[in-house]
Amino acid sequence: MTTFCGGIDLGGTKIEARLFTGPQVESHSFHRIDTPTDSFDAMVAALIEQIHWLWGQAGQDIPVGVCMPGVIDPRSGACHAANIPCNGQSIQDALHHKLGKTLPVLNDAMAFTMSEAHHGAGHGAQSVFGLIMGTGIGGGYVLSGDAAFRYNGLSVEIGHIGVPARALDRNGLPSLPCGCGKSGCYETYISGRGLENLAKHLTGSKIAAPEISDHSSCDQIMKIWADIAAECIYTAQFMLDPSAIILGGGVSRIAGVIDMIYDQFEDLRFADIPAPTIALAQHGDSSGARGAAIAAQKAAAA
Ligand SMILES: [Zn+2]
Repeated sequence: MTTFCGGIDLGGTKIEARLFTGPQVESHSFHRIDTPTDSFDAMVAALIEQIHWLWGQAGQDIPVGVCMPGVIDPRSGACHAANIPCNGQSIQDALHHKLGKTLPVLNDAMAFTMSEAHHGAGHGAQSVFGLIMGTGIGGGYVLSGDAAFRYNGLSVEIGHIGVPARALDRNGLPSLPCGCGKSGCYETYISGRGLENLAKHLTGSKIAAPEISDHSSCDQIMKIWADIAAECIYTAQFMLDPSAIILGGGVSRIAGVIDMIYDQFEDLRFADIPAPTIALAQHGDSSGARGAAIAAQKAAAA
């Protein structure tokens, strides 16, 4: 008999349901709909539509998990996200009320890390730190195969930790304002938008992130990017000391990023402690849904 599980990636514009199969949780099929943004009830109805799609595809009520950006309070289930109409309400409670089942609902960066820790780039590692470098920065932490408990439901918000003064000083960088209301956060230098900030600072002109690789100042921009990214990895190593660090998101797909970070990390290394093991994610854009599906499978087996 085929083993199925399902994951739903709830985003600000799309809700993606993805069916997975087999012991390695391989992607089988997917279905995307627009995210209703006008009310919580409409969004929950859309989630239920997607859950029924997964159950219909599998021919049975399989385990299904949901991931979303933002903060999910582990005690109350209250969800807070910038682009999703949850307004502090519990998605888990709303689904339980309609379906009579408890589905895991987890942060999407934690789901990404769950995915990579199970038959992904972090497979077999006892502790995995996932670092998503997309438009913004996301982080997740998986210990012994499970999403690490987070007291306030925060994921690893390393993107909103300040870059050390030493790194701004040696690169001649200002403390740039961040969307979170503070300034000098890692996100403002090493995300996709951060790359654009670095390009603007160095060249004086606005260059879109995908066009930086063709620009005459590309090497200079990327060297500073890699230096700040190495500081971010150093912060993660000192805080979490993970067995493996897995990079995902659009910025991680720039050719040679891992070698660039390792080169810069040599100057930061503490005493004889080696650089952490850094690898690129293997499951691409399906990682959020896949991690949610794995969390659901584990919850069903517990
Ligand atoms: Zn910030």
